[in-house]
Amino acid sequence: MSTDLSEPDHSQIHRITLPRIVLVGENILGQIRDICVEQNFGKALVITGETTIKIAGQKTVDLLTEGGIQTNFTLVGDATRATVDKVISKVKEFSSDVVLGIGGGRNIDVAKIAAHDSGRFFISVPTVASHDGIASNLASIKGSGRPYTVKATSPLAVVMDSCIIAESPYRFTASGCGDMICKAVEVRDWRLAHREKNDYYGGYAASLSLMSSQHIMERASLIKARTQEGIRTLLEALVSCGVSMSIAGSSKPTSGSSHLFSHSLDQIAEKPALHGEQCGVGSIMMAKLHGLNWEAIRDSLQTIGAPITAEELGMGKEVIVKALTIAQSLRPNRYTILSKHKLDEKKAAELAEFTGVI
Ligand SMILES: [Zn+2]
Repeated sequence: MSTDLSEPDHSQIHRITLPRIVLVGENILGQIRDICVEQNFGKALVITGETTIKIAGQKTVDLLTEGGIQTNFTLVGDATRATVDKVISKVKEFSSDVVLGIGGGRNIDVAKIAAHDSGRFFISVPTVASHDGIASNLASIKGSGRPYTVKATSPLAVVMDSCIIAESPYRFTASGCGDMICKAVEVRDWRLAHREKNDYYGGYAASLSLMSSQHIMERASLIKARTQEGIRTLLEALVSCGVSMSIAGSSKPTSGSSHLFSHSLDQIAEKPALHGEQCGVGSIMMAKLHGLNWEAIRDSLQTIGAPITAEELGMGKEVIVKALTIAQSLRPNRYTILSKHKLDEKKAAELAEFTGVI
């Protein structure tokens, strides 16, 4: 057998990048220093926010400095392209070897994109468990008003201190559960796109995402009781979903019609709720459209203490109905159950009423 040394067809290569180190445990911020020392990093830039600097940012800066790593930090307030560009300039000016994102979605997304665009390593240190971007290679960034997803880098390490997460406001944890439970629906959207539009479908990535949803539904009471086991289940589910996106090379296993509903609320609601809270409510209605057991999804969300109605999201009925009618138009190329059941105002209102959302 001879080896063919000609250039491979790059369109046929499926490249998967995954986090190298995933740490979950109590009081483990010190591990970040050990990882950076092991990697021989000389300089580190910490991206954090005004609240998260007090929770974990300053402590990480001190730990890294004690470990002999020259460390600087930058506070960011939003995840816009302008902020990312400022951080990239800082990374280059400081010649940082690694960029650490410490906090919630924004800080992690900015650090992830800045690390990717400047060719540096990225370490993810979430202080809340509100969504699955903590371990993925995708990031969400705001441009001309609306958020869009960009491919970035998989973290070298994800360090999740379960004590910090357990002490964060419970609303974030419940939101993270909404972002997980909705995968039961998102995976069905992906399968539907495969069946009806011949979309690429990866069974392994889909199974990982679906399993995250099942684990959270099974352990809803443990999460509500804020046990370490419950928090750990959520953190592992969030990481699994990040890995499923990396394996699929796309957000398709984790983002379908429930996410489109959430994105449309982000556009039209006066005060949007948290991402996972909106996805959770969306998944109740989308599950009904798919013919799934939507009551089980609703009951799990309710046990966890996540919103299940418009009122609990802090929104009027008309906002929910409008969001349902425009959701698919935000991303026409992503085929979902909403492409199949085109909802006009009347049908949207019926769906939301039937499932008790309004
Ligand atoms: Zn999500």
